[in-house]
Amino acid sequence: MSPPGRPKGECRRAQPEGAPATARPQRPARFPVALERVHGGERAAPTDLQRPQRPLQHAALEAARHSAPSGLGLDSAAVRERMVGRLRAQGLGCEPVLQALSSVERHRFVDSALANQAYEDTSLPIGSGQTISKPSVIARMLSLLMDSARAREQGDLGRVLEIGTGCGYQAALLCRMARTVISIERLKALHDKARENLVERPGDLRLVYGDGRLGHAPRAPYDHVIAAAGGDELPAAWLDQLAMGGRLVAPMHDAARGGQVLLVVDRQPEGWVRQWHDAVHFVPLKSGAA
Ligand code: SAH
Repeated sequence: MSPPGRPKGECRRAQPEGAPATARPQRPARFPVALERVHGGERAAPTDLQRPQRPLQHAALEAARHSAPSGLGLDSAAVRERMVGRLRAQGLGCEPVLQALSSVERHRFVDSALANQAYEDTSLPIGSGQTISKPSVIARMLSLLMDSARAREQGDLGRVLEIGTGCGYQAALLCRMARTVISIERLKALHDKARENLVERPGDLRLVYGDGRLGHAPRAPYDHVIAAAGGDELPAAWLDQLAMGGRLVAPMHDAARGGQVLLVVDRQPEGWVRQWHDAVHFVPLKSGAA
């Protein structure tokens, strides 16, 4: 079942000039956040009121809402729309991706001290020595997924495997474009943080704690696989668990270029077809869980 009101995944064509931004209807932010569903049916995550920073952040958001329209408020649709406008100006024209970026509140996924940078095109620390990627890189990777033959045929990302949940921001975006998202994180502290951040689950999402290099065989095959950490070679499990017609996007070391680049792999009847894209800088893909 596709999320309602979302356009089909046409991601090669940019938004026509002068066309209105087609933001998905926003649910108003609610504090405290009601527990809607429990991740994996395992345990109830705390509500926002039980989390130390949220009431403070709430106060900041309320203040921003009621302040003069200086454009500096954290809240906000308006700030996110400006971020999306900048991405559009850079040539990112994949509407489902832009709509997801305009509806997911990135400032809720980073430390409250960094919230005022949340809508700049910058990577930010998320704890445990890891970083959330900058929005333009996330948008680029998600657009590459939405441009796969499978996504163009069915209009969404179907079943997605994400390696590197981190703070959960990209998982929240994926939920807007996919039917099911399985996201794996090897660091327990971040897995737990993502559970908290995603208590108001945006879709059919399962957060898994473990080594994502092994993929997640119980829910395979996946229409799309996306990795937020880069290694020297593609783990065989990712290729094995990719559905026929599916696409994988991952940062990967490219010896010829002497750095990381985005690798796109399409699984086709005749085999796996690889394309190398932009140079990127992602945190390393590591072995085992910690
Ligand atoms: N998508 C994330 C980005 C997180 S940064 C977000 O929106 O916040 C990349 C993450 O990959 C880190 O949290 C890191 O711990 C994780 N990672 C690295 N190697 C991994 C592995 N083998 N399995 C699962 N996660 C891994």
